[in-house]
Amino acid sequence: MTSSPYPHLLSPLDLGFTTLKNRVLMGSMHTGLEDGRRHFPQMAAFYAERARGGVGLIVTGGFAPNIEGWAKPVAGTLATSAAARRHRQVTDAVHAEGGKIALQILHTGRYGYQPLCVAPSRIKSPISPFTPRELSARGIERQIRAFVRCARLAREAGYDGVEVMGSEGYFINQFLVTHTNQRRDEWGGSYANRMRLAVEIVRRVREAVGPDFIVIYRLSLIDLIPDGSSWPEVLELARAVVAAGATLLNTGIGWHEARIPTIATSVPRAAFTWVTKKLRDALREQGITTPVITSNRLNMPEVAEAVLARGDADMVSLARPFLADAEFVNKAAQGRRDEINTCIACNQACLDHTFANRLCSCLVNPRACQETGLTISKAAARKRIAVVGAGPAGLAAATTLAERGHEVHLFDAAAAIGGQFNMARRIPGKEEFEETLRYFTRRIEVTGVHLHLGARIGAEALAAQKFDEVILATGVTPRDPKIPGQDHPAVLSYIDVLLHRKPVGRKVAVLGAGGIGFDVAEYLAGGADLGHPSPTTDLPAWLREWGVADPEAQRGGVVRAQPAPPAREVLLLQRKPGKPGATLGKTTGWIHRAALKMKQVEMLSGVNYERIGRVDGPTGEAGRIGLFVTFGEGRKDGRVLAVDTLVLCAGQEPLRELQEPLQAVGVKVHLIGGALEAGELDAKRAIDQGTRLAAAL
Ligand code: FAD
Ligand code: NAP
Ligand code: SF4
Repeated sequence: MTSSPYPHLLSPLDLGFTTLKNRVLMGSMHTGLEDGRRHFPQMAAFYAERARGGVGLIVTGGFAPNIEGWAKPVAGTLATSAAARRHRQVTDAVHAEGGKIALQILHTGRYGYQPLCVAPSRIKSPISPFTPRELSARGIERQIRAFVRCARLAREAGYDGVEVMGSEGYFINQFLVTHTNQRRDEWGGSYANRMRLAVEIVRRVREAVGPDFIVIYRLSLIDLIPDGSSWPEVLELARAVVAAGATLLNTGIGWHEARIPTIATSVPRAAFTWVTKKLRDALREQGITTPVITSNRLNMPEVAEAVLARGDADMVSLARPFLADAEFVNKAAQGRRDEINTCIACNQACLDHTFANRLCSCLVNPRACQETGLTISKAAARKRIAVVGAGPAGLAAATTLAERGHEVHLFDAAAAIGGQFNMARRIPGKEEFEETLRYFTRRIEVTGVHLHLGARIGAEALAAQKFDEVILATGVTPRDPKIPGQDHPAVLSYIDVLLHRKPVGRKVAVLGAGGIGFDVAEYLAGGADLGHPSPTTDLPAWLREWGVADPEAQRGGVVRAQPAPPAREVLLLQRKPGKPGATLGKTTGWIHRAALKMKQVEMLSGVNYERIGRVDGPTGEAGRIGLFVTFGEGRKDGRVLAVDTLVLCAGQEPLRELQEPLQAVGVKVHLIGGALEAGELDAKRAIDQGTRLAAAL
């Protein structure tokens, strides 16, 4: 053990033939850099930066062993010596930084978003439009050989090991359960038959690569689908793959088609390490000491340290945290935990990009996967620069400028930095946004930004200070929906509710079902304003809410969800027809919709807000306010929605009142974030624009 602040996390792991310098594995992420030859130099720079940052072992994004295993057409494949030679750029770059790297072999089976996909049985998955071809016994043999060839080529390419992807509902996992394997030959039926593929692959990979090469097997510990693996089956497979030659057992949580969130920001930190502990304890009882790796929502060193200290695992896998901060491990080791740029688990620039076929990056670190394109270099000449607005855009700009050597003055009218993040962090399930504010608070100190809070700066004052450049990051102002009668005291804006904490009644209508409308509905239905705790900070409550059970008690670990009752009645309205929430994130929208359904939030679309007024008449609900609505283009089915409070979440408009007066007196201004464009604004765009402008000035 070292005398570091994280003795378990930073202690080496001896694998016999090699030693990992600490217990941190950078988990596999599909970044898009894997697909296409032209990305190899970028991929090498991406992994080399993480190796320099001190991580113990890197696992690459998945590479298919053959075309049948492609995640999508022309996905990254390692099947020839020529391809292996290209990988040398990556392995050499990582080794030059003193790192170690393993290649993930990913065969997607029926999850393949491509017409050549194959599977144990001809059963279409709910997440791909392509029905897989059922493999013959010879076809299965071909897949095994492809895995083995891929592992051999990985060794040839200079990798330190491979990870055989056996979880998340991919090809190997599809053989394990009857949900997807209905074969009657020696690859289906009994569990011994269903697990044969996994064991054969590991055994023959080990034979091919020799004893001194890392072979990680990623095992699905809790499938989170109704007819997933039973716990005895999970244990049997773990024992068998260890006997077949696995060096490390990594943890997989949930199939991709599971309807339980596993990595989103509303999932509690370290929510699933108890499952890894069950496996580790069971193996230890049988004398098996193969190191076990745990994963999912481990995003700060103290979280990972606690998991290791209580014996949940031997090693931790962190994936997205290495997009957010390449230096995670070095910062932890050097006692600079408060300088870590924390992954807030939003998925907005990583997984959402992957699903949209775009290169992955990171909301809080736009340099992720852009290491060769977006460089932050010392400024040629030091300038005096003013940044107005300390929301995400202004914070990114100010700290990047100061890092480059400029004298930076950051102004905000509020008493604290953060802009709208001060509202976002109050939403149950968005507690992580607090970390971004902590990071920027420290970053302001480290880079030496001059911070001026608590006064709205005007154009005159700015002009008088003769800055070389002025950046307006003044954000947005709520859109006025101009509904007749909206000046009624029971009509509030989302700012009144979230920031000023104005009291809200028992029955509420939220007008506008964009990102903020959804968040406000979740906040009010869950009773966050009434002091009800967020399930994200209470693991047992969260597990109950989503119906996650001990896999030993329930096959697959799924039971009926038991959400806490809603704190109040909430209606969520939008003017356009169609399903509310269409603009939410690709990989998280379904979670927000499911969370509101659990809280019995009623959603209405195609609503026209005619006017707001007193409720009267024989059925009038005394003391309530009425929102008079009609539906559709024909303005039909008029009715009154009687509620206690109306909350306006009707979008936003740019706030750039300083632009004209400054330009009028000849001051050079730049606009970023909401001040530039409010439509479809999010923190990803705000931080990206702030960083890029600052890198160029
Ligand atoms: P802002 O954050 O609006 O900051 C502007 C700042 O400028 C403010 O602090 C303001 O006080 C200051 N200012 C304005 N004028 C002056 C002046 N004259 N002098 C001094 N200071 C001034 N985005 C996501 O990407 N993901 C999410 O999950 C997400 N959730 C959200 C949840 C909620 C409830 C809310 C409200 C927003 C959420 N957002 C989310 C949106 C995100 O917060 C914004 O896109 C982002 O904050 C915009 O950044 P910005 O820097 O452009 O502006
Ligand atoms: P938004 O997503 O643009 O939604 C605004 C809502 O207001 C829409 O539902 C819109 O739909 C309605 N609206 C627009 N004009 C209106 C009018 N004149 N009268 C009444 N209703 C009107 O904006 P937002 O919810 O304010 O969010 C702001 C930004 O923050 C968004 O760009 C969003 O991406 C980001 N954000 C993201 C998240 C996230 O989880 N990723 C969460 C919160 C916020 P109708 O016109 O159909 O009613
Ligand atoms: Fe984490 Fe969000 Fe960055 Fe993805 S985009 S790595 S989830 S902070």
